[in-house]
Amino acid sequence: MTRLALFAAGLLALAAPLAPALAQSAETRVGWNRPFEPFRIRGNLYYVGTAGLSSYLLTGKAGHVLIDGALPESAPQIAANIQKLGFRLRDVRIILINHSHVDHAGGLAKLKALTGAKLYASAGDMPDLEAGRTLGRTDLSDFPPVHVDRLVRDGQVVALGPIRLTALLTPGHTKGATSWLTTLAGKRVIFASSISVAGQKLVGNEEYPSAAADFEATFRKLKSVKADIFLNYHAEGFGLNEKRAVLNAGKADAFVDPGELGRVVAASEKSFTKELASQKAGNPPS
Ligand SMILES: [Zn+2]
Repeated sequence: MTRLALFAAGLLALAAPLAPALAQSAETRVGWNRPFEPFRIRGNLYYVGTAGLSSYLLTGKAGHVLIDGALPESAPQIAANIQKLGFRLRDVRIILINHSHVDHAGGLAKLKALTGAKLYASAGDMPDLEAGRTLGRTDLSDFPPVHVDRLVRDGQVVALGPIRLTALLTPGHTKGATSWLTTLAGKRVIFASSISVAGQKLVGNEEYPSAAADFEATFRKLKSVKADIFLNYHAEGFGLNEKRAVLNAGKADAFVDPGELGRVVAASEKSFTKELASQKAGNPPS
């Protein structure tokens, strides 16, 4: 083989396993980023995300808290949604994040610039947020790096006027994956971070050696949490469209389902256990 032919063969070998994942990712991103009409979920809690990726706004007289920034290309839409609901971007004082992957943290840098808010994040996710690195996902890109202004510890309460959000560290999906807890008009709400394996290496992962043990501890921890309203950051993960339709039909408690967290944790743990056994048997992550 000539040097050129060898080079071409090398490129093909590289391209073959990468191309389908990247193509799928581009399509997936367009789908995730479809516009979605912002709306009030309950009390001072609003949905300001895209059709596929959640972003939540908690409002108050002392300023607002925004949770998650979705993709880099989602940031203008999230900002417009906040304004459409009648709130000012400069009144967003604090931004929180569920985990440091491009589909949640991608829009943070832009949203920080648009609002002037401070970003609070866990120590586990800080290095990847500040490097703009999506760790452990070959199908997702990196993202604009974003400076973390304050670190949050497990159990720490983030307060802004009447708003109170308690950090619940739920690592595994990333090193610092963070769920948030609050109470809204007498209902306990969990903004649950992702708890799926999603192709991550659970065995012999040099960049995240404790991934499997962290997942197991997170499942144990979440089983002790009671929540009346379960929210997460992928629309299909908590039935956004279905609940929105019920809310539109006039049922104020459309998002209330005290059994949902338990069901999601049980299903996720089952998938995790299967995936761990598969990887221990020598199969690649799936
Ligand atoms: Zn993720």
